[in-house]
Amino acid sequence: MDTQTLKHLNEAQREALEVAEASRETEWTSPSFVAELFMGKIRTNLIFPYPEQSPEDRQIGDEFMKQLESFLKCNLDPDEVDRTGILPPEIIEGLTRLGCWGMKIPKEYGGLGLSQINYNRAIALVASYCGSTAVWLSAHQSIGVPQPLKLFGTAEQKKKYFPKFAQGAISAFALTEPDVGSDPAKMTCVAVPSADRKTWTINGTKLWCTNGLIADVLVVMAQTPSKIVHGKEKKQITAFIVEKGTPGIQYPHRCDFMGIRAIQNGVIEFKNVVVPAENILWGEGLGLKLALITLNTGRLTLPAACGGMSKQALRISRLWGKEREQWGAPIAQHEAGAVKLSHMAANVFAMEAMTYYASALVDRGGSDIRLEAAMAKLFCSEAAWKIIDDLVQLRGGRGFETASSLRQRGEKGYAVERMMRDSRINRIIEGTTEIQHLFIAREALDYHMKLVGAFINSQSSFSEKWKSFWKCAFFYPKWYLGLWCSFDWMKSYAGYRPLSSEIRFVGKNSKKLSRTIFHLLLKFGPKLESHQMVLARVVEIGTELFAMACSCSKAISLIRNNPSDLSPVELAKIFCKQSQIRIQHYYDALKKNTDPEDRTLSKKVMNQAFSWMEQGIIPDDGAGFQKNSETTVPLEEKRRYSV
Ligand SMILES: Cc1cc2nc3c(=O)[nH]c(=O)nc-3n(C[C@H](O)[C@H](O)[C@H](O)COP(=O)(O)OP(=O)(O)OC[C@H]3O[C@@H](n4cnc5c(N)ncnc54)[C@H](O)[C@@H]3O)c2cc1C
Repeated sequence: MDTQTLKHLNEAQREALEVAEASRETEWTSPSFVAELFMGKIRTNLIFPYPEQSPEDRQIGDEFMKQLESFLKCNLDPDEVDRTGILPPEIIEGLTRLGCWGMKIPKEYGGLGLSQINYNRAIALVASYCGSTAVWLSAHQSIGVPQPLKLFGTAEQKKKYFPKFAQGAISAFALTEPDVGSDPAKMTCVAVPSADRKTWTINGTKLWCTNGLIADVLVVMAQTPSKIVHGKEKKQITAFIVEKGTPGIQYPHRCDFMGIRAIQNGVIEFKNVVVPAENILWGEGLGLKLALITLNTGRLTLPAACGGMSKQALRISRLWGKEREQWGAPIAQHEAGAVKLSHMAANVFAMEAMTYYASALVDRGGSDIRLEAAMAKLFCSEAAWKIIDDLVQLRGGRGFETASSLRQRGEKGYAVERMMRDSRINRIIEGTTEIQHLFIAREALDYHMKLVGAFINSQSSFSEKWKSFWKCAFFYPKWYLGLWCSFDWMKSYAGYRPLSSEIRFVGKNSKKLSRTIFHLLLKFGPKLESHQMVLARVVEIGTELFAMACSCSKAISLIRNNPSDLSPVELAKIFCKQSQIRIQHYYDALKKNTDPEDRTLSKKVMNQAFSWMEQGIIPDDGAGFQKNSETTVPLEEKRRYSV
């Protein structure tokens, strides 16, 4: 997409978009089920049969999982970790002995060389027990140095760093800055080359770098000198490997969070930190692209962790739902409780189906999983939050009480309160829900943008517009007609029994979604980009369809392997029914919503038109409690008010 088409944006918005666009992977060279789905095609061969883990790989995973589980259960107290905010050194050493810091490091460098599926199984297992430990491991391997090194490292870099990680060195990924969260265009951390270009000097501040405070090796994103492309300045962001102990690195603050309280995350300052040029990963100016590509696979760990936590939530809900009796029956038998359990079970099934489908594609290679991974992250982080919230509700007052307090008064101390605090971050890190919506929407619109981009771009020459016009004239009539008259009703879905009607629904709705996208493009033109709620609904429909397809595929595969157990089909069927209701809700909301009114009202709120509604409170000005002798009420006065 040429950002010149977006004349309605201000300069900062356009710059943010230009940086993001420059870092996108622009081509779809490998197949993607979701990319096709957005164009109205359902390529069932990409999702059926469900990609199974090979028996050999499963056995490797099973053995590792057994060791990991036994180590954690015998040595790690997750409540103590949460209470103290410390992951004890003997746990870190134990994890090193098990090879956990080298789970994804290839065997030839001394790592475990686990497949993506087994790695995700390990993270899910750890996350079901201790959120902090899971984040230590995943920040190191999913986004820290090992993953970009695997993808983009030179042979020398791999030889130098992989063995260190396999032996227990820990890494971190430093992109975020105080003013750079979702929008990297404003990056102020800079790196400048020496005159002979043999070294680079980094200056700047990074924020919220998980593992950053203890990491032996960091991957640091910094702005490097801009390039002039077609007479226009283009910002460059470059990734550097930076080793602990390099002079000039300071750690002024460790951050304290609501959950995952033992992570070593904080502010890192770089003051004239000199790194050799050979520490550049991939190439100058390719840092942001590297970060995005790294996250395509790295992002899959997060849904796996959400799956682990949600399975734990399901288990506790089952036990408590049966044990706790109120109003003459176990609470899970009251309809309000039953619905919660049913939603949990169906969603856990769908979450795992999506996560391990995408993970299997990574192991198999040859597929483009950027949309599948982003959808798995989006769906699983939101579903896990809802599941854990429902668990808190089912536990009633006990859901709000800490595990240790429950145990102290002689009750079972399920760590539900900790689980809720630990899981909230998943909707924020590795792409917030809102940014995932935008990212997925951008990719969903990609084909259309390529076709019509030059036509609607005010900067295009006459011949470019003319070419674009003809491309559209050839493509759209046939494609659009195909979305209406596809003879889909004649197509046999018998091969997908007993879930054929669900798959038919996915096929039919991929066409409906595609038509809807086209209609929205006609209605809003380039301004569609700023109708974020419209895009979010479109993305949610696509995500639900993908979740349905994965669930059906997994269920069919499970019953083919074990025909005597039809429970997977039951789960897939109920998930699809729940999903269809949500899809209908999104379609309805595309037609009838309060988006324009919400925009107007929000402007008024921002302009303090409703400041009268903020009266009657003690305003939080962010400064915390300040004892002020002039305004402090004397003790005698206080007594007069007390009863
Ligand atoms: C515990 C923790 C661990 C972290 N670990 C790491 C790490 O290891 N490495 C690292 O580099 N960073 C890390 N981060 C940073 C994390 O990735 C960011 O918090 C995240 O990217 C969001 O950025 P932000 O917090 O600055 O939010 P902002 O970008 O300021 O966004 C605030 C809100 O506005 C919304 N928003 C922003 N832009 C738009 C838009 N264009 N349209 C609509 N809505 C928008 C967001 O969705 C969000 O709801 C971590 C953060 C935390 C809290």
